[in-house]
Amino acid sequence: MIYADNAATTKMSRVAIDTMMECMEKNYGNPSSLYSIGQEAKEILEDARKTVAEVINADPSEIYFTSGGSEADNQALLTAARLGKQKGKMHIISSAFEHHAILHTLDRLELEGFEITLLDVHEDGLVRPEELEKAIRDDTCLVTIMYANNEIGTIQPIAELGEICRKKGVLFHTDAVQAVAHIPIDVKRENIDMLSSSAHKYHGPKGVGFLYVRKGIRVANLIEGGAQEQGKRAGTENVAGIAAMAAAIKEMASNMEENAEKLKKHCDRLIEGLKEIPHSALNGDPVKRLPGNVNFCFEGIEGESLLLLLDDKGIEASSGSACTSGSLDPSHVLLAIGRIHDVAHGSLRLSIGEDLTDEDTEYIISSVRDTVEYLRSFSPVWRDLMEGKKEFIL
Ligand SMILES: *Cc1c(COP(=O)(O)O)cnc(C)c1O
Repeated sequence: MIYADNAATTKMSRVAIDTMMECMEKNYGNPSSLYSIGQEAKEILEDARKTVAEVINADPSEIYFTSGGSEADNQALLTAARLGKQKGKMHIISSAFEHHAILHTLDRLELEGFEITLLDVHEDGLVRPEELEKAIRDDTCLVTIMYANNEIGTIQPIAELGEICRKKGVLFHTDAVQAVAHIPIDVKRENIDMLSSSAHKYHGPKGVGFLYVRKGIRVANLIEGGAQEQGKRAGTENVAGIAAMAAAIKEMASNMEENAEKLKKHCDRLIEGLKEIPHSALNGDPVKRLPGNVNFCFEGIEGESLLLLLDDKGIEASSGSACTSGSLDPSHVLLAIGRIHDVAHGSLRLSIGEDLTDEDTEYIISSVRDTVEYLRSFSPVWRDLMEGKKEFIL
């Protein structure tokens, strides 16, 4: 089996599993308790805080543990919205292809009276800094732009965007769930005020993540209760999960360059091989993308059918077209980069892992090629295209 859906979630690393097991067995104390096993658990938490802070060049006091990326996104947006409201600033800028944890939170803030501007991400899947600069107003309280897109993998010019926000005195948040531990991030150098991360996207466990908030920004809490996490996130801490997250991020950070190089080599070969399929196209900028992401559209086929047949061949991948409760809406990400519905439906996302081999890469290419050809052989859309009743787009 070839697992090529690491953007959805990753397999836990050996070190993360071992750390978690050991912590569950030995360190079951409550970090708020004063006796030894409580204090030992507290120490594990603070060590983990240091470890994750270091990876993004933050101070440990700027790290708030959460239940994952979605919670961190919600908390960041609520924090900026509360601060904005106090100053009468009710305008927020984001992009058209954010994760739903951002977009749906923005929908809610809009109902509460905030005005939302979504920046265009253009055909290459990249926000233009000059367009951000133009969109910022006197009443803008937040700019939130994802570090790297979870579907097409494009990496935004975060340092440039951060610089603009800092100059204009606007808070800048980035959903860096796909980027942390995969590519280098420096919150200070890039002028990032808030950043979201999730452990299960870098071989840690599900249900744990963190929010970085720059010192001096008053964090709004989503969950009221005890005084955990500087009083900003109540609830007895997920000690084993947090310890495992730290173990996972540490291993990934120390191999980051090597991993990226390996992934990029495989992805370059995948892109080269898949491009040979007629009427296909790579989605997103060919260079400014995550090292492990390949996203293609193939004209005349349905992404879901492609996925199911690839699954039969032992390849687990994903399609941009999420089939939710019977409605077949194509991916908002692919629509945002200008793919029309028909084309967006025929998409394939391969998010490969560090353990992929050269043979796996060749097997993926030949399997996708054969399967696309097979699906086209009985696709009415493909027949119309071939007979000239419809125009090819790709
Ligand atoms: C996975 C993901 C999230 C959600 O993280 P969870 O930990 O699953 O809540 C948010 N944003 C992006 C970009 C993601 O890829």
